[in-house]
Amino acid sequence: MLLAQSSTEAAIDVLSNTRRMCCLNYTIGDEAGDICAVETTPDALSVLRPEESFLTHANTFHSPNFQGMPEDERAERDPRAYTSHRLLSEQAEEIDRHAIADAQTHHFTGETGGICIHREFDEWPAITLLSFIGEVGKGRMWAAYGSPCQHEFLEYEL
Ligand SMILES: [Zn+2]
Repeated sequence: MLLAQSSTEAAIDVLSNTRRMCCLNYTIGDEAGDICAVETTPDALSVLRPEESFLTHANTFHSPNFQGMPEDERAERDPRAYTSHRLLSEQAEEIDRHAIADAQTHHFTGETGGICIHREFDEWPAITLLSFIGEVGKGRMWAAYGSPCQHEFLEYEL
């Protein structure tokens, strides 16, 4: 139902009027460039709007409505969201799909994790299964299946 909506506002309306059984985050955008993250619980939702021309999120709650993580704690407690925001901020004048792909393939120095994760043999195994970049206004997306540092982003027409 979300993908069938013609605008970000219409998608937010669908989320607002749909019964939910778990907590999820949705990153939504439309052809007009209206982007947001919607954090949801079964009983409530919160819409987060970017202060810049981009938005980053890594599946932790940030909204004050949900006692979300304040910006100044994210470097330590939500390093993926913090780092992706920092990397894109450094290129804020020229964010294109290559800048986004570079951020998605980023690894933390000396670690098997980062924004791109492949910790297959750690105590808490995890791996990035899919990374994608959507160019909503042009009806295109690029997707890398598996760790994006090891798999090419392939173009898809929507
Ligand atoms: Zn990687």
